[in-house]
Amino acid sequence: MVEGGIGLSSRDQSQIWKCLWSLKIPEKVKIFWWRALRGILPTKDNLIRKKLSTPSSCNWCDEGEFYQQRIILFERSMHCFFHCDFAKEVWSNLNLWDSVSSDIFYSSLSWFSSFIGSNSCDSVSFVVIVLWNLWNARNTREFQGRRKSVYEVVSEIAGLWES
Ligand SMILES: [Zn+2]
Repeated sequence: MVEGGIGLSSRDQSQIWKCLWSLKIPEKVKIFWWRALRGILPTKDNLIRKKLSTPSSCNWCDEGEFYQQRIILFERSMHCFFHCDFAKEVWSNLNLWDSVSSDIFYSSLSWFSSFIGSNSCDSVSFVVIVLWNLWNARNTREFQGRRKSVYEVVSEIAGLWES
């Protein structure tokens, strides 16, 4: 998934921001997803671009990627949300994989634009909560070296959703 709003009109883009800021979810979660859509989350590929990190793989599934004319392992932007095996398991557990998995190979903005176009505000809110928890699970693996279970993450999502 690449960043940017390729193929999106400025009207589409302004609808995305309007939708995001109107969601009934915690402010910090909205800001997190806004940063993801702008391509400024500190994922490994963004850090590599800023020369703050050397290439390394997702520490869950060792995703490989073609980078600078050779195959090396490093984590793409958005990997932890859709392409990682762990994320797929969480979405499947929530029975959401079918509804979120179309268009995930386009940009995050295009994906979100198409998702908000065909889902209720409540569904969009819930999906952003899931994305937030996937990001937290990724950070727990990355910085604390602990792998949360799918069940643990699904319970956290339910807890946050009900609060
Ligand atoms: Zn992965």
